[in-house]
Amino acid sequence: MNFVSTFAESLARLDDRIAAACRRSGRPRSAVRLMAVSKTHPAEAIAIAVAAGISLFGENRVQEFEAKRPGLRSLIPAGAEIHLIGHLQSNKSARAAELFDAVDTVDSLRLAERLQEAAARFSKTLPIFLEIKLSPESTKSGLEPDDPELTALLERLPDLRHLALRGLMTIAPLDDKPRSARTCFRQLRQLRDRLVVAHPLLDFSELSMGMSGDFETAIEEGSTLVRIGSALFGDRPQPR
Ligand SMILES: *Cc1c(COP(=O)(O)O)cnc(C)c1O
Repeated sequence: MNFVSTFAESLARLDDRIAAACRRSGRPRSAVRLMAVSKTHPAEAIAIAVAAGISLFGENRVQEFEAKRPGLRSLIPAGAEIHLIGHLQSNKSARAAELFDAVDTVDSLRLAERLQEAAARFSKTLPIFLEIKLSPESTKSGLEPDDPELTALLERLPDLRHLALRGLMTIAPLDDKPRSARTCFRQLRQLRDRLVVAHPLLDFSELSMGMSGDFETAIEEGSTLVRIGSALFGDRPQPR
């Protein structure tokens, strides 16, 4: 069996599971978008996904995507989006603002200010998500819900005219316990519900949550965007 038919089969299976999770939770299928996480996979894998109809991708490293991009220029259709979903250091923010269609991992005021400057220089409006940290695993980046910096950032965002907030993003604990993932997804939704009231000028319509191991739970808890890597492309060459 070749990679093309494997990919199409994985996509069909995944689509069925997303549709079933939407039905179970009384949500329309159109309420949930699928992001294909192509990190560690070559440009050819992205090309195959594009041919299968996928138009939203997630990459987690600036340099890795920069290296893949020359092989993709002619393949990525207009309207396709590539988001940065990995941690971004401020010193790479200019490159990220130029390369990506959105940065889904904004986790500090300083990073937001840097992205604003860069986006202004490229005369573009950059969609962003705020990454929220809801589990105690200390290795993970993201702003904690009660961090005063989150409030400061939300108060500053309406003035950062080259950034367009789209919503919140989180990564559930990777401990294989469905219950802790559900708690985390529910907390993100409840945080969003509070922020919508507290910051009426901002757009919180997207909840980016759910990966290969927990996307059905995430959909049941209100995810609008699931980030799927291994369930589509197979196991990654090396773990990251
Ligand atoms: C790698 C990654 C994913 C996809 O993970 P899978 O378990 O392979 O689906 C989703 N989100 C982020 C932020 C990632 O780094």
